[in-house]
Amino acid sequence: MSLFRANIERMAGYVPGEQPQDSGWIKLNTNENPYPPSPAVVEAVTRAARGPLNKYPDPLGTAFRKAAATLLDVDPDWIIPTNGSDEVLTLILRAFVDSTDTVASPYPSYILYETLGELQAARFARIGLNADWSWNAEQVATAQDTAKLVLVPNPNSPSGNLWSRAELLSLVPRQGVLVLDEAYGDFADVPHRGEFLREAPAGRVIVTRSFSKSYSLAGVRLGYGVAHPDLIAGLRKVKDSYNCDTLSLAAGIAALEDQRWMLDNTAKVRTTRTRMTSALKALGFDVVPSQANFVWATHPTRSHRAIYEGLKARKILVRFMTYRDVPTAVDGVLTGLRISVGTDAEVDRMLVGMGEVVGNDE
Ligand SMILES: *Cc1c(COP(=O)(O)O)cnc(C)c1O
Repeated sequence: MSLFRANIERMAGYVPGEQPQDSGWIKLNTNENPYPPSPAVVEAVTRAARGPLNKYPDPLGTAFRKAAATLLDVDPDWIIPTNGSDEVLTLILRAFVDSTDTVASPYPSYILYETLGELQAARFARIGLNADWSWNAEQVATAQDTAKLVLVPNPNSPSGNLWSRAELLSLVPRQGVLVLDEAYGDFADVPHRGEFLREAPAGRVIVTRSFSKSYSLAGVRLGYGVAHPDLIAGLRKVKDSYNCDTLSLAAGIAALEDQRWMLDNTAKVRTTRTRMTSALKALGFDVVPSQANFVWATHPTRSHRAIYEGLKARKILVRFMTYRDVPTAVDGVLTGLRISVGTDAEVDRMLVGMGEVVGNDE
């Protein structure tokens, strides 16, 4: 007999990408920024660490919300800071979804959405994407009619493609909320900053943003949600009282105030992304044009698992992905490699390894 709720007993649980704890790896598997955070962030955290750590942090993160609101040109009541943007996704699922509701997201996309749906024992509807990662109108219409929540990463993962605002508007459910996950928004050629919130129906869209990718702060755990204050007020009821700590809030404010640093790093990533895309194509891969800090590469003849293993034997980590029940894939199973954009030196080493693994014997 299991003591767990039936849905918890049934589910497998989300498995994050490998995080090796020994050194010497070229780590291109979980889309971290290869560059360090702003020195102003390190200074702010150090200063905060010398402050009153014996006291609880501000439960609402008032100073942080002001900084984020200034950047996005909204009122601070539109912002909720969270322990990574994954936490704001958790709050959203807990606040809006129970076992009678349907949650929908494009497939393939971020697998965590399905895990969060399982935690609520909700129904999950995959919005099957076309083979070229475009929307299927029929699937979109069904989601719009039936879903309480639609979750969409923009740019998408693992493909890195960006959807237009018009496409996203058609995804707002008739009786629910669209969650726009902008974890990679700062890497797009034309970065977006919640402009969409002003065009979307009021109170029906939540934008989520992360410090883990563009701000080089995956180790700090900070993200935030942006939405109409009525939605934010509901999410606050669900969160832990002190979900963000003094140090991460200080880091976040300093990071937001040094836009130059983030913009310089994302520009470097875009330049390397272009070069990496051409080099992978020259090695025989099909590569989706990416607007994120990773690329989705598939090889027409080689086993993606074998390539992943071959690279791993050389201490190069990329993400091997398997998506099952994809109607547009051969045998219904889509596999591929999601490769983060590292520094130029890291990418060069990955490309050398890749050249050895796929060989030139075709
Ligand atoms: C990395 C990622 C996140 C979450 O990042 P946090 O580290 O929790 O801020 C959210 N959504 C997508 C699609 C991601 O790839």
